[in-house]
Amino acid sequence: VSAAQQEDHLIEAALQPNIELLVISNRIATFDPLQPKTGGLAAALEPLVERSGAVWMGSSGKLGDGNEPLDIGPHGEGKVAKLDLPREHYSGYYEGFANSILWPALHSLPDRMAASAKDYESYREINKFVAGAAFHFRDRDAIWVHDYHFLPLGAGLQCLGVDKPIGLFLHTPWPAPDIMERVPNHRELMQSMLAYDLLGFQTNWDLDNFRACLHTHLGLEVEHGIVISARGQTRCQKFPIGIDPNQFAQHASESLAKQDLYISSLQKKLNGAKLAIGVDRLDYTKGIDVRIEAFGQVLAAEPRSIVLLQIANPSRTEIEAYKDYKRNVESLVSRVNDEHGTDEWRPILYENDPFTRAQLACLYRAARVGVVTPLRDGMNLVAKEYVAAQDPNDPGVLVLSKFAGAAEDFDQNEALLVDPTHPDEIAAAISKAANMPREERIQRWRSMINKLEAYTIHDWSAHFVRELDKSRVGARGTVPI
Ligand code: ADP
Repeated sequence: VSAAQQEDHLIEAALQPNIELLVISNRIATFDPLQPKTGGLAAALEPLVERSGAVWMGSSGKLGDGNEPLDIGPHGEGKVAKLDLPREHYSGYYEGFANSILWPALHSLPDRMAASAKDYESYREINKFVAGAAFHFRDRDAIWVHDYHFLPLGAGLQCLGVDKPIGLFLHTPWPAPDIMERVPNHRELMQSMLAYDLLGFQTNWDLDNFRACLHTHLGLEVEHGIVISARGQTRCQKFPIGIDPNQFAQHASESLAKQDLYISSLQKKLNGAKLAIGVDRLDYTKGIDVRIEAFGQVLAAEPRSIVLLQIANPSRTEIEAYKDYKRNVESLVSRVNDEHGTDEWRPILYENDPFTRAQLACLYRAARVGVVTPLRDGMNLVAKEYVAAQDPNDPGVLVLSKFAGAAEDFDQNEALLVDPTHPDEIAAAISKAANMPREERIQRWRSMINKLEAYTIHDWSAHFVRELDKSRVGARGTVPI
């Protein structure tokens, strides 16, 4: 079967229960074919909207006074519904509770938390507001909510009387009970999550932590994947997000043939050195600083042997911790370049702009080493994209943090697993990867690509929707938002 047929088949699989789905996420895809698509979520959900008639609701990117009507437009078979979030609560919700409290806590980095009780109020208010807007679509068969922005959204929907299966997929990790304890109102938050019929996590590690948190903080037990609360049953399951490996492989071979200008100038800049690549949002969870230090060590041991192309797209730029991190990474890059570079050769090429998926695929393929070293990550799609884009006859090697969700999919015989806080370990792995014999590279790569093909992003969304459909509800109580 062709790739298109295969995709049709999978979308059909997602539709099997013939579900009219409402999808809610903080951001929605731009749906502009000319714009580079960042993120795998758009790739996963766009086909659900375009071809299977789902409604996708999320922020319009504009702020309002809370009275603007939903901007609903058609997209393929489905609809996109854009919402102006209320100005009054936006910053407390987005920069505050979601990204300065939940984000660091969920990534087990409590020292990065900047708590403010007021922000929690804004977070609740925005969740209530989004629930109110989603009420417009109460006739849909099921609701699929995405990510940590909306932990209490399911409870808000139920308060309004929505009586359809509601699921949440959490793209981030879930931390251990002692870290969760430091989140203001953590009990209330977790209690509200039990309004969902289905809670999806990336890995077993996350599931185990969530189970431990329920036990410690709410005195509830998960048995056979189900937790029973006053509201009813919540199923907790693992859905490790994937990518579309064929798309990356195709992009990689097509764009290499096209003689991309960036790539040919890159070859000149390498000047005989091998290439390593890092692609991240500029976020302190990504371990970019330690990676650069490690790279300095590789260059000290093997001068001029390797160049690191570090693509770091600025993110959440209003938040102080992100501004500091950006400055810190920039000064580390300059230091390593000053120490190990010359007038005509720079060991770290540092790029901040977005690339198209085709360009990224091509750069992944050009790199002998993919360096993915987050301190903690829900999954890390870059790790999977790097593998998918490799040349089957001459693949590169993945250096992967053992604390990325992807490390539950790829083992020590496949990727080179490292502790992302230890520059020595990362340096040794980069050096081993750069010098690995071809046979070993092929063997490791084959094993990884087989896994990627066995559970693609389309399988992931089909799997979640099928499981959600099993949660047809009987009588249920409500959980206060
Ligand atoms: P996160 O979701 O925390 O940003 P992931 O690695 O899981 O981390 O996903 C990042 C996604 O964004 C990947 O699909 C990657 O290809 C894409 N991406 C990151 N940086 C860029 C960039 N500069 N240009 C284009 N796409 C990017």
